[in-house]
Amino acid sequence: MRFAKVELSAAVVLCSAVAAGAVIFINYREIGPTLSDAHQTVALSRHVMLTWLSLGFLAVTCLATGFVIWPVLRRHAREQGKLRGLTNLLSERSKRLEEAALTDPLTGMHNRRFFDEALKHYVAEFSKIGKPLALLMIDLDHFKAINDTYGHDVGDEVLRSVAFCLFELTRFHDVVARFGGEEFAIIAPDLSEDETFRFAERLREKIAAQQIHVGPSAIRITASLGCTIALPQDNPTTILKRADGQLYEAKRAGRNRVAS
Ligand code: GH3
Ligand code: MG
Ligand code: MG
Repeated sequence: MRFAKVELSAAVVLCSAVAAGAVIFINYREIGPTLSDAHQTVALSRHVMLTWLSLGFLAVTCLATGFVIWPVLRRHAREQGKLRGLTNLLSERSKRLEEAALTDPLTGMHNRRFFDEALKHYVAEFSKIGKPLALLMIDLDHFKAINDTYGHDVGDEVLRSVAFCLFELTRFHDVVARFGGEEFAIIAPDLSEDETFRFAERLREKIAAQQIHVGPSAIRITASLGCTIALPQDNPTTILKRADGQLYEAKRAGRNRVAS
C-alpha cells in the first residue's frame, strides 16, 4: 500500500502529538515523588530530559505541519480552485456554442435547427391540450433581384430589416426563425384560423411598407405568406408541408399575398 506524502506527514504529526502528550503525562506523574526523593539530582535530570523530549516531539509536529501538510493543503486548494475555474469556463463556453448553434448569425433569429425542435415540441403539446397552433411560412419576393441589383451586402441588410419587422409584430411566446435563405417561419400558438390570417396580413403589410435606404435610393420588398393551423392528426412534417403548399399558392397567385 502506498502512502501519499501528506498522509505520512499526518501520521508523523499524530504520533508526535501522542508521544509528546505521553511524555508530558509521565513527566507530570514523576514530579510528585521526586520532590521528596533523596536522589533529587538524578530525578531532576530525568525530568529535564523528558521535558526536552516532549518539546522535541512538539517541534516535529510543528515542522511537519508547517513544511509538509500546510503547503500540500494549499497546493491542493489552489488546484481545486483552478479546476473549478476551468469547469466553469468550459460549461460557459459550451452554453455559448449551443446558443450559437441555434442562432442565425445574420439576423440574430433562431435558426432552422431550433425551429424544427420547437415545432416538434409545440405540435406534441398543443395536440394534447387541444388548442390551435398556427404555422406561417414567409418568403421574400424576387429577392434574388435585390442581390443582383444592389449586391449581397444590401441583400443582407434587407434580410435584417425583415427580421426586425417580424420581431416587432410577434408575441413573446411565438417562435420566429430564419428558415433558410430568404425564408422565415413563425410558430404562433393559440391563434384561430381567422386570427392567423389577420396576423399574416399585418406582417405582409408591414414588410411591404418598410423602406430600406441604400445611398440615395430606398428599396422596398414584398413577401408571400403561407399559413395553416395544426390539425389533431398532424405531425411536424405534415403541418410544414401544408404551410409550404400555401406559400407556393401565394407565389403562384402573384406574390405579395397571404394564402391559408
Ligand atoms: P421568389 O419570389 O420566387 O421567391 O424569388 P426569389 O428571387 O426570392 O427566390 P430565389 O430562390 O430565386 O432566390 C433566393 C435568393 O436568396 C438567392 C440567394 O442568393 C439569396 N440568398 C439566400 N441567402 C442569402 C443571404 O444570406 N444573404 C443574401 N444577401 N442573399 C441570400
Ligand atoms: Mg425561397
Ligand atoms: Mg423568395
